Amino acid sequence: MSELAPIRDELVGKTPYGAPQLDVPVKLNTNESPYGPTPELVQEIVTAVTAAALDLNRYPDRDALELRQDLAQYLTEQTGVPIVRTQVWAANGSNEVIQHLMQAYAGPGRTVLGFEPTYSMHHTIAESTGSQYLSVQRNPDFTLDRHQAVEAVRQHDPAVVFICTPNNPTGLSTDLETVLAVHDASTGLVVLDEAYVEFSSSPSFLRLLEGRPRLVVSRTMSKAFGFAGARLGYLAADPRVIDSLQLVRLPYHLSSVTQAVARAALKHRRTLLQHVEATKQERDRLISELQAMGTEVVPSDSNFVLFKAPQAEKAWQQLLDSGVLIRDVGVRGYLRVTTGTPTENDLFLKAVRDLM
Ligand code: PMP
Repeated sequence: MSELAPIRDELVGKTPYGAPQLDVPVKLNTNESPYGPTPELVQEIVTAVTAAALDLNRYPDRDALELRQDLAQYLTEQTGVPIVRTQVWAANGSNEVIQHLMQAYAGPGRTVLGFEPTYSMHHTIAESTGSQYLSVQRNPDFTLDRHQAVEAVRQHDPAVVFICTPNNPTGLSTDLETVLAVHDASTGLVVLDEAYVEFSSSPSFLRLLEGRPRLVVSRTMSKAFGFAGARLGYLAADPRVIDSLQLVRLPYHLSSVTQAVARAALKHRRTLLQHVEATKQERDRLISELQAMGTEVVPSDSNFVLFKAPQAEKAWQQLLDSGVLIRDVGVRGYLRVTTGTPTENDLFLKAVRDLM
């Protein structure tokens, strides 16, 4: 009998990223938007895909020039910070954007540092690209200790530091002084993962890019845009960083269909983003109703809420049994719920009440 080829040593025993994808009535586990595209946007997408289909014998625009231009325009409009196409990079979800960053700036012999608990894929992608990942613990209230963060950066001199702000899975943003202190203490790339920034009451850190070529701001259309299925992530940075990412991306990594669909959605950005305000209000309602039930909640600047659940695993299963899927993010004694529609949130709150 022939043997299986040996997998890389560092992958032995690992489990793949695996938020459960279950067919349940209320899915509040992956921080998606609960709102699908409008019929007008669906029509626009159909038209855009039809046009792209006529050219599918050709490779897509390798540099995604028009899409990057549209993303630059969106960033400028949303933040008031002038951003141009040469500062923008796009890929299949911000996970791929992060992978490109790791391939270009981390890898074997290099260290990546993150503040835990945080988005688990930072760790996973760092390791799968051969980098060493170092965890620095956040404070018990999940804020970042500026002094400790700076010390860790000085001590380890990482090639890449991640700051997820607002932080998934805990919810809060990092303050300006801490971001600047970490940046100034480092010699490598500082990646601000702003996947949830549209839900935040703090402004984007895009304004810090000017004069800081080691800073990168990563974004996604998966959350506030309600476009997770289309797989479009992007970042803004110094044009020389973008040039370096061209060295590691696969040729034609963004299909012409993806580019066309993302451009159609960006055209409809006002309609898509109009759910952001409603989501923030519903998030605040989730927080106050959980608190009214006596549940301790971590303050949130994003579209999800981390709350205390002493018997988290059991509570997660009981909620699932009542048709509500939320997330056990591996933070002991806590569960995370994504803000859904008002009806979904009511069902979640009722299920929690029934547990008590
Ligand atoms: N960053 C953070 C902080 C996230 O929570 C997520 C998705 N959960 C991502 C990046 C990746 O999103 P996507 O690949 O869909 O853009």
